[in-house]
Amino acid sequence: MFTQRVNTIEFISTKNLEVDELKNITLKRTLVLIVASLLSVSIISCQNISSTTPTSSSTSSTSTSTTDYTTSLETTLPSTTDITTTVTIPDDNPLKDNLTKLEFFDYGEVTMLEGIFKDSYDSSMAYYMGIPVDDILYGWRAALGLDTKTGVDQGINGNVLGQWISGFSRYYAAVGGPEITEKLNDLTAGLMEISILRPMIDGSLTNMYGFEKYLTGCLDLFHYGQKPEGLIMADRMMAAAMQSSIYTSPIKSLGDNGPGYEIEWYTLGEALLYYVNTIKQEKYPISSVREATDFAMIYVYPEFWDIFYQDLNIFDYNPETGQNIDFFHAYSHLNCYNSAAAYYRQTQDEYYLTSMIRFFDFMRSSQELVTGGFGPRTEWFLPEEEIIVSLQTRHDNYENQCDTYATYKLTDYLMRFTGDASYGNWAEKLLYNSTIASIEIEDGFAFYYSDYNSEFGMKTLRTDWKWSCCAGSRMQNINQVLKNIYYHDTENLYVNLFVNSSVDFERPDNTVTLTQNSLFPYEDTVAVTLNMDQADTFSLKFRQPEWLSGDVIIQVNDEVIPSAYLLNNWLTVHREWQDGDVLEITMPMGFTTNVFEHQFDYGPDGVWAINYGPITMACENNDNIYSFHPVDYLDINTALTDQLIPSETPLHFLLVNDEDETIIYKPFLEFEKHQIYYMYLNLYQYSIFD
Ligand SMILES: [Zn+2]
Repeated sequence: MFTQRVNTIEFISTKNLEVDELKNITLKRTLVLIVASLLSVSIISCQNISSTTPTSSSTSSTSTSTTDYTTSLETTLPSTTDITTTVTIPDDNPLKDNLTKLEFFDYGEVTMLEGIFKDSYDSSMAYYMGIPVDDILYGWRAALGLDTKTGVDQGINGNVLGQWISGFSRYYAAVGGPEITEKLNDLTAGLMEISILRPMIDGSLTNMYGFEKYLTGCLDLFHYGQKPEGLIMADRMMAAAMQSSIYTSPIKSLGDNGPGYEIEWYTLGEALLYYVNTIKQEKYPISSVREATDFAMIYVYPEFWDIFYQDLNIFDYNPETGQNIDFFHAYSHLNCYNSAAAYYRQTQDEYYLTSMIRFFDFMRSSQELVTGGFGPRTEWFLPEEEIIVSLQTRHDNYENQCDTYATYKLTDYLMRFTGDASYGNWAEKLLYNSTIASIEIEDGFAFYYSDYNSEFGMKTLRTDWKWSCCAGSRMQNINQVLKNIYYHDTENLYVNLFVNSSVDFERPDNTVTLTQNSLFPYEDTVAVTLNMDQADTFSLKFRQPEWLSGDVIIQVNDEVIPSAYLLNNWLTVHREWQDGDVLEITMPMGFTTNVFEHQFDYGPDGVWAINYGPITMACENNDNIYSFHPVDYLDINTALTDQLIPSETPLHFLLVNDEDETIIYKPFLEFEKHQIYYMYLNLYQYSIFD
């Protein structure tokens, strides 16, 4: 990682600060202003990146006072000069608003094209589409004495249905077609019948975790599934909750899983404000909007958010109650920041954003594993030394589907709030090392935990919990990717993730269609084609990956362009574009060898893992787990490029060894179910194989 950072800095300083060269360019007045602002920002960005991490200032501070908060906010957030454009007034989607600096493209505005992401998406959706609606609803209908129709009891129960209502609605908006149309019609009719008898659908008022999933599901059904019934059911749920003292006076315990019904109460805010914005848009009486808003504001979580707002040590705070009494539950405490994001949009109070940013820095600097995963050992935030022990001793190292979904949302919010591309880096790692690396759900058993154990690992389904949370959130996870690929502001188009797809960018007098097509990450060049009705001037921006191992090269129509501006970590190409222009961006990849991708003690107690660009690598062993271990051959004092030699297959490397064995390192995403691999390594320790 250190080598990589140095290269990044060199790249910025040589490519982006050619001041004299730029001064000589004759431009129209407006363009001069833009360049001037870009230049000043490039310098700011470079200074920021020259420190060990771009956003480290907030976590290293120990401020607690309001004054310090303001100072720290300034150093953490992009300064106002970074903002080159203002954002359009939002369209009618309640998730969009005029506080964001960037806008996402919603479901249906991005079209997937053939590639490794679409393969993964299609195979997951095929599984879910294969479950008949009558089977899905069997348990609810049977419990209520309703006709179970053709349903077969597959044991489907709990909260997955709420997540699936969302997932199917988003799939309908994103992909569409007669099959999902019919499914959504049947599902809606069935749910309406259940909802009359059981407003909360999941069966009780004592399940706040489920309420969040079902409320979001019904609102998605309304917005994305285009079903008015979705809002009717959301109204019923909200009425039931707002009449219950369980909801109006909740026990807001610190930590995971309180004594009873308030499990993960602190993730409700996002869904409640989704409802508020929906009824506002639907022009409900102002008294109803106010009542719902007041209700939503109950679910703020300052008991936790203050820890990061005040830069305190999370490990000095222990949850008081519940099943996880030692540490905080990782998924839900990351996900509660998606609620903080919703409160930030609602109130514009920078308290929420500051706490979000500091939490994000805490996660990336101290909790994130090499894959982008986090929360090992029963899904906890852990002190560094305990993370290492859990990687050495346990196989439940990352709760894939729920956590990746929540992290995609968090990076999306932060990118839009700050305009800073660096938040997209985490999403990129999870795209390859979690979403695409997942094995498919079978018989209701999901790929729940990823196994990064340093003795050996294996992809397995979680068979002790059928229709688990992750069986529900897998559909949310894969659909959410579509919202993280592209962004726009009023003038410019942004590419965050390198996923084969196309998007229509509506301009005042023009529609620009951008198409991405490449073998990335199996090659390091991504080509984009622009099609448009008429020539148009705007900036095309690409997230500068954090893993670059050399200079980025950008070509337009086979001609290398001399400089791309770096603005908020976006590589920016501003020019007049013509129909049919092809831009190729080459982003050199290399090995990054570290423990957590970050600062870490490479000492005897540490564990190592290898990333190549954003891709986590693992060593193959097709014989059995006792035949060898790569720690037998890897030398901590020798450059990895001398030990891992590229093979003929892209992203496959041959591990040099004395015995002339063919030992292959390849992307973690390529490993299949029950195939042994070695990812984390105890390089200093005797392995169990010695
Ligand atoms: Zn889960």
